[in-house]
Amino acid sequence: MFEKILIANRGEIALRVVRAAREMGIATVAVHSTADSDAMHVRMADESVCIGPPAGTQSYLSVPAIISACEITGAEAIHPGYGFLSENADFVQIVEDHDLTFIGPTAEHIRIMGDKITAKDTMKKLGVPCVPGSDGGVATLEDAKRIGEEFGYPVIIKATAGGGGRGMKVAQSAAEMEKAFMTARAEGKSNFGNDEVYIEKYLTTPRHIEIQVFGDGKGRAVHLGERDCSLQRRHQKVFEEAPGPSISAKERAAIGKVCADAVARINYTGAGTIEFLYENGEFYFIEMNTRLQVEHPVTEAIFGVDLVREQIRVASGMEMSFQQDDLQINGHAIEVRINAEKLPNFAPCPGRITQYHAPGGLGVRMDSALYDGYSIPPYYDSLIGKLIVHGRDRPEALARLHRALGELIVDGVDTTVPLFHALLAEDDVLSGNYNIHWLEHWLETNLGDG
Ligand code: ADP
Repeated sequence: MFEKILIANRGEIALRVVRAAREMGIATVAVHSTADSDAMHVRMADESVCIGPPAGTQSYLSVPAIISACEITGAEAIHPGYGFLSENADFVQIVEDHDLTFIGPTAEHIRIMGDKITAKDTMKKLGVPCVPGSDGGVATLEDAKRIGEEFGYPVIIKATAGGGGRGMKVAQSAAEMEKAFMTARAEGKSNFGNDEVYIEKYLTTPRHIEIQVFGDGKGRAVHLGERDCSLQRRHQKVFEEAPGPSISAKERAAIGKVCADAVARINYTGAGTIEFLYENGEFYFIEMNTRLQVEHPVTEAIFGVDLVREQIRVASGMEMSFQQDDLQINGHAIEVRINAEKLPNFAPCPGRITQYHAPGGLGVRMDSALYDGYSIPPYYDSLIGKLIVHGRDRPEALARLHRALGELIVDGVDTTVPLFHALLAEDDVLSGNYNIHWLEHWLETNLGDG
């Protein structure tokens, strides 16, 4: 096992990794920008290294600075968290070239899944059901129009390198194809340096269901059921739950096995998430994330496992601590993402926290790096905390969420907490009757957000 690991991230996820490492008796090194000198992850880690100025490109994304921090502190492995360098195959290669261990999958797997066309092709060959659409990239507008006719509108044009909801455009009809095609290409080029796009049938009422998988890198893999992340704004998740209210035990076992078998066959290492759209009882693969997800705690809650601990174990060469039969679902968990944003337009709202009180009690977990007097810097993501609740069943989890949100105090900045209070008064949310478009419609109707 490692003696010391470095965490190449910030905020709640850096703290999350510190916590797992400490319980395993592993020393931690935090890295931080000059804007984060007072951050909680820096305070909680055993050591810290300042790696650059506030801009992410010059600090949390600076590969030389992070490798140097490892050399200086003697850290043997790097946990990337999510975002930043977590899905950067070149970074993984450099880490390995320096005889350090990357706590995550191989550069090759990250590369395959990071290109959505290659990912889809790979998954199809592994027997995973995919959204109907173009066979690979679509180079010209003429081809795009032909595919639109073939599959029938609406269709979605997606940048193969896209992520975070960027590089995707819907064409409702042939008349909208030119603009959607050009915009998706341009967004792919400007955000990800790659203008290749592909086309999929646009599903009109699907749920977003993702399967958590975990592999040992030696051909053994398990699944940890699904998360329903259908409540989204601009293709970004805001509320996640496990198990999915619409998924039966039989469906879970079947799709879970397809996913576990697929990653076992490619000798996948560590945590991964296979994302699907789910409509009329069918699963359609959209992409695979080769890292820990923001919403991993709902899975941890219902299975009683520590996914970060497991990532570290497997990266160090140890066996996974569970097998498929050990993984039984217990109850229901919900996570809400608390962002420093001002409703109704979700404008980022950095600033000083004058008072912070985290909710507690049975079945409540608050993953956050906030504290009284902390100043949220304006340079990074607006996620400031995740509130996760666990109950014996969905109604109990919802009641607990309501109770815990009532206890939470975040003064000094605007947050998305009022959104969740409002959602918990909606019959559709209470009954689990929603799809990926539900929240956008609700926001438009109730907040005029559009
Ligand atoms: P990103 O990598 O940017 O997160 P994804 O491919 O994971 O992109 O898609 C994000 C979200 O976009 C999905 O959860 C879903 O809401 C929507 N989406 C993607 N593909 C389709 C599709 N074929 N039909 C309908 N909605 C889609």
